[in-house]
Amino acid sequence: PGDPLNVVAVECVRAPGALRLPVVPGLPDEAYEHDGQLTKRQVRAVTLAALAPEPGELLWDIGGGSGSVAIEWLRAHPACRAVTVERDAVRAARIARNAETLGVPALRVVQGAAPAALAGLPVPDAVFIGGGLTAPGLLDACWAALPPGGRLVANTVTLESEALLTEWYRRHGGDLVRLAVARAVPVGGFTGWRQAMPVTQWAAVK
Ligand code: SAH
Repeated sequence: PGDPLNVVAVECVRAPGALRLPVVPGLPDEAYEHDGQLTKRQVRAVTLAALAPEPGELLWDIGGGSGSVAIEWLRAHPACRAVTVERDAVRAARIARNAETLGVPALRVVQGAAPAALAGLPVPDAVFIGGGLTAPGLLDACWAALPPGGRLVANTVTLESEALLTEWYRRHGGDLVRLAVARAVPVGGFTGWRQAMPVTQWAAVK
């Protein structure tokens, strides 16, 4: 008390009861406007850890959905850059709103279907595929776009896409993991686990 060196600048001003928006990935799902197409909090935190943003790096977020992966990439550092590609116009508009609300209006939203919509984009440091994995040539185009040392992370809940990721894992190595998150819910007067669909994630460095 009385020591001026103890004064700290408080930059986070938040109304009482308002949602906390921490600086680390894994924002609450409620922080996003979404239609169900949202990488859920626990899987999103693991995904951002695998993408491993560094200041100044550029992410391609393919199948943007609600934009959460690109948005949390941008929140990692003010110098980070991201472009998200989403084929659905309503979702593309929603991504832009979420980016604005969550403090990263610089997110570039490309409305279009990958891989065609990737033509002409600047060279990425990392690519995340959250949708469109089975689109012909998509994985090839993403891998080809990455410079040596670039990271590719892909998530899926379908067996068809999982088969593709298994094949790429055999060819290129990296990490193939399965994330199975369950949440406790009421069961009669008791509590039981509700299992979410398991997410298969392949992460590799080119
Ligand atoms: N990671 C997102 C959720 C992705 S949902 C988030 O956290 O919000 C998958 C999205 O991929 C859907 O919105 C779907 O419209 C989009 N998609 C599917 N195939 C695509 C393609 N070929 N090109 C672009 N977007 C595609």
